[in-house]
Amino acid sequence: MKTIVVTGGTGFLGSNLCVHLINEGNRIICVDNNYTGNLDNVAKVANNPNFHFILHDIINPLKIGEHIDQIYNLACPGSPSAYQGKHSITTIKTCIIGSLNMLELAEKHGARILQASTSEIYGEPLERPQKEIHCGNVNPIGIRACYDEGKRCAESLFFDYHRHEGVDIKIVRIFNTYGPKMNPNDGRVVSNFIVQALKGENITIYGNGSQTRSFCYVDDLIDVIVRMMHSEVGFTGPVNAGNPEELTIRELADTVLAKIGGKSKMVKMPLPADDPTQRRPDITLAKTKLGWAPKITLDEGLDRTIAFFKKVIK
Ligand code: UDP
Repeated sequence: MKTIVVTGGTGFLGSNLCVHLINEGNRIICVDNNYTGNLDNVAKVANNPNFHFILHDIINPLKIGEHIDQIYNLACPGSPSAYQGKHSITTIKTCIIGSLNMLELAEKHGARILQASTSEIYGEPLERPQKEIHCGNVNPIGIRACYDEGKRCAESLFFDYHRHEGVDIKIVRIFNTYGPKMNPNDGRVVSNFIVQALKGENITIYGNGSQTRSFCYVDDLIDVIVRMMHSEVGFTGPVNAGNPEELTIRELADTVLAKIGGKSKMVKMPLPADDPTQRRPDITLAKTKLGWAPKITLDEGLDRTIAFFKKVIK
């Protein structure tokens, strides 16, 4: 049994990870400020004696009075509508000061630490598919920069703590992920389209819908980040974690509407600034180093996600 800190543990990915790690027989210290997370997400494991919740914002230093083996640093709002605007300064603090605090905690405990980085490292990518060696093309002063540059700086911090303090780091760059436990009001495209279709509301296409994304089902994503945590000493990544099945946003809308039916119509809305035109991971590194490839097709993942939202939407 390992003692594992999961920051962002009540969020979409964090809560799915906590349940997975508890089921593997670990002791979990779940840390979240519940800004976008929700305790309902961890209700299944809340009464498990190996599950502990700490209401805490990682912008502040964290002390843990027992030995920690591993830290998964997932804390940060992931949806553009949650990290931009009035939350942008908190977002950049979470990425940078939060990462510093977690790296200090890892150093103190001699714990291995995994950073949930992002495909946003690549910004508006200059290559397709995106390989880990692509240094990215990010607008440092745009409305996404709080997240993109925050996560880029976090990667720098992780590598400096690794090089200079010997901290055992792992970095995964997470591409668009979807599945059960997404918040219906999250604002991301998969949840928006499914909820809109289920309610018979307009499907909101930002721009002309020709921009692409590649969507990974949450169980596959949890699988790759846990494999990364268990990978050989010295293998730091960054490793792309995502499903290379790429489609346009318009195609996603067509697929969701075909599955749900109903009266919803597609309406065009303004494209947010700096919205990347394309995103598709090259997952060669994850395949070769971690023996991982996604198993759940978009078709199956959407069916499972629609079934989840049917239960939560009244
Ligand atoms: N998008 C959209 N309609 C929505 C929400 C998002 O057309 O209701 C688009 C958005 O402009 C982007 C893509 O879907 O091009 C993915 O957006 P999301 O917020 O899910 O994540 P991102 O990949 O931008 O971080």
